[in-house]
Amino acid sequence: MILIYVLLGAVILAAAYRWQFWRLPKKGLLALMYHHIGTCEKSDEQFPFTIFPARFEQQILSLKKHGFTPIRLADLEKVRQGEKLAVKKPVLLTFDDGYSDSFTQLFPILQKHQVPAVIFLITDSIGQKEGYLTWEQVRQMKQSGLVEFGSHTCEHARLRSLPEDEILKQLIQSKQKLEKELGVPCLAFCYPFGSGGKDKRVRPLVFQAGYQYDFSTKPGINPYPWKAKKTILRAFPRGGETLTDFYIQITRGRSRF
Ligand SMILES: [Zn+2]
Repeated sequence: MILIYVLLGAVILAAAYRWQFWRLPKKGLLALMYHHIGTCEKSDEQFPFTIFPARFEQQILSLKKHGFTPIRLADLEKVRQGEKLAVKKPVLLTFDDGYSDSFTQLFPILQKHQVPAVIFLITDSIGQKEGYLTWEQVRQMKQSGLVEFGSHTCEHARLRSLPEDEILKQLIQSKQKLEKELGVPCLAFCYPFGSGGKDKRVRPLVFQAGYQYDFSTKPGINPYPWKAKKTILRAFPRGGETLTDFYIQITRGRSRF
């Protein structure tokens, strides 16, 4: 009998670890972190970072069903400048690295559902490396009015391991390149590997370089109205996760440890 209780307890603990319904739902600004939209094998190291297109569409529908409104960086900027944004459950969809599937797979879905998104670009990879976007594709997405762009450094640099002048170079040169190519101010920055988001040395340099928004890889839900100059946490829907996981992600900011 005792064995049954022990086993039952173990099952409950395992389930609570895997599906964190026990976390209280949180209100605020939800940001989601994605990388690839496409397909890949479960054995592939990119698998956790790859959402199948059909699943991504289900996630968009799930967000809508649960009353979320996808917003733009431009909306955050309005709030920062004192405007009130009458959105109850704002969500920012963000995509790191600027892979070519952001154009071939993601962009058609954004257009179909008229959902805005932010893509963080590694500026030295754009138009240079296979598997990454071209500047032409970037411009085409920008012109649609649905996609905004931020910086992810010039070279996907691990900022915490760099000296100050190198950090500033990564921050400023990528910002200038984006502004030159797109003709709009680049105000958002996303830390490669999440490196630097909590660093007392790195983070002030992001703002010194002229950014207003910095995005971390740390999971969570942000206060809203969002307090300027606070790193934006992002929930991380992984490849292979179910819609139940997604529901926990969007209501709790994380679905697992
Ligand atoms: Zn990255």
